[in-house]
Amino acid sequence: MSRRNLIVGNWKMHGTVSESLKRITALGRKLEDIGTTDVVVAPPHTALYSAAIAAQDTGIKVAAQNMHWEADGAYTGEVSATFLTEVGCEFVLIGHSERRKLFHEKDEQLNKKLHAALAHELGAIFCIGETNAEREAGQTFERLKEQLKIGLHELHIHDIEGLNIAYEPVWAIGTGNTATTEQINEVHNWIRAYLEKNFDGPTANSIRLLYGGSVKPENAKSLIACENVDGLLVGGASLDPDDFVAIIEAVA
Ligand code: PEP
Repeated sequence: MSRRNLIVGNWKMHGTVSESLKRITALGRKLEDIGTTDVVVAPPHTALYSAAIAAQDTGIKVAAQNMHWEADGAYTGEVSATFLTEVGCEFVLIGHSERRKLFHEKDEQLNKKLHAALAHELGAIFCIGETNAEREAGQTFERLKEQLKIGLHELHIHDIEGLNIAYEPVWAIGTGNTATTEQINEVHNWIRAYLEKNFDGPTANSIRLLYGGSVKPENAKSLIACENVDGLLVGGASLDPDDFVAIIEAVA
């Protein structure tokens, strides 16, 4: 099955509304033809509405960096899936390692978020990955299995449309230490096999697997060439429109 490549720029807590608009306008101008690649940017919540409007007619789609699983209620500081779709979001990051580490998000909570996101037809980008200590201790696959088992709990074949999984080794994020293609092949092939074991073949094969962790224009081509890499999740390099466009073009 052929899967469309997906390139996601995670802008984290960088950018006011006007800065985000400047970035998205520059991207729209530089990206003349994104062809068959899906391009998504994730600005801070405050910029989502204007970013989605600015992205119209560019082919770029907008993602939120987080959401709550409930529809509404007494959850100070949170936003729900319906709020996100209302402002034009089509994707959402779930379980980024910074959410897990700094905000103590647990696999069980991420499972609820995935259920809610997919039920509202948001493309979910579910982030998993091991820490350096886990890799050194030979626990990489144990940790990934736990994240997948709990994160995807009770998601059935008909729920899965719109699910993307991003393998982001924590030790590679923002460090300049990109995982090697051997490491990425080993993990991505293992994730695909895990999905095939737990879903039927066509469903497992419809899920896009992204790699994230110090992706740059110079390494994007070799990363996307890995058999089970269907896209890239880009942090730092997505803040510079020239670098992000160079990554997208390398993939296209
Ligand atoms: C990220 O934040 O998801 C990420 C991969 O960051 P960077 O590209 O800067 O390593």
